[in-house]
Amino acid sequence: TLNQHIADLNGNINVSFEFFPPKTEKMEETLWASIHRLKVLKPKFVSVTYGANSGERDRTHNVVKSIKQETGLEAAPHLTGIDATPEQLRQIAQDYWDSGIRRIVALRGDVPANYQRELFYASDLIELLRDVAPFDISVAAYPEIHPEAKSAQADLINLKRKVDAGANHVITQFFFDVESYLRFRDRCASIGIDAEIVPGILPVTNFKQLQKMSAVTNVKIPSWMNKMYEGLDNDPTTRNLVAASIATDMVRVLSREGVNDFHFYTLNRSELTYTICHILGARPA
Ligand code: FAD
Repeated sequence: TLNQHIADLNGNINVSFEFFPPKTEKMEETLWASIHRLKVLKPKFVSVTYGANSGERDRTHNVVKSIKQETGLEAAPHLTGIDATPEQLRQIAQDYWDSGIRRIVALRGDVPANYQRELFYASDLIELLRDVAPFDISVAAYPEIHPEAKSAQADLINLKRKVDAGANHVITQFFFDVESYLRFRDRCASIGIDAEIVPGILPVTNFKQLQKMSAVTNVKIPSWMNKMYEGLDNDPTTRNLVAASIATDMVRVLSREGVNDFHFYTLNRSELTYTICHILGARPA
């Protein structure tokens, strides 16, 4: 049974946690409280997102460095090709390598409105990184298709291109329809992508915001989810419990389908991620 399977897992799973650079002192406190709470689960790595707006690169770099120094965890910066020349990207990568960073999440990045420059795709960035140093590289994948992709097949071929260019790990966009992830994983295997397709798990505490984002992200919100969050707009406590319940159900099914690695979009919070990891069998070392 599923329960037996979960019991047998015995914490034999790999988790990673994603954070974003805090903008205020208060947010910084929240982030650090979360990092310290989650670090005992011995994540394989933690990652820190990167926005193209000015100053963000330094914030990402600083957070990554502090995490490494204060916790000893492997910390990976996200890096995008937006608003930077190849020369600048090479310099950033070299700086990262020189400061002991060995893992990078390589992305094209979200394109700002009225962006004039030529696009530097994730596959271009991977080639550039490979040229600088032998980084361990993670890339993004989209079980429900990237919104700008010409077709599902073109998007899949792009992922293959990224892996062939030297990406070692694949992390998915979040999803709620587990079937679409499983089908996508099969399609990756059938085209010869041999990297693990690590599901990105988003515990949804703010359903309204998710609804707003869904058009831009192309992530399906199943109708059962609308039902689950119905009437909870002003009830954050119940929303949190519902979020934990939904994410727990998802990871249990994924685990039964052979998934051992999970990436969590923590939004810099620890409670839900910790709970879900605990249920999956992760325990403080
Ligand atoms: P790519 O793999 O380059 O693909 C982008 C699109 O272009 C796809 O539709 C693809 O099919 C198409 N394409 C690729 N190559 C070509 C080509 N040569 N010609 C024509 N079309 C092509 N964004 C941030 O800004 N900062 C972050 O820190 C960040 N972290 C993320 C982490 C994860 C795990 C995920 C899933 C996403 C993250 N994003 C982040 C969002 C990401 O930057 C956007 O989804 C972006 O629009 C696509 O990035 P990509 O690396 O997947 O791009």
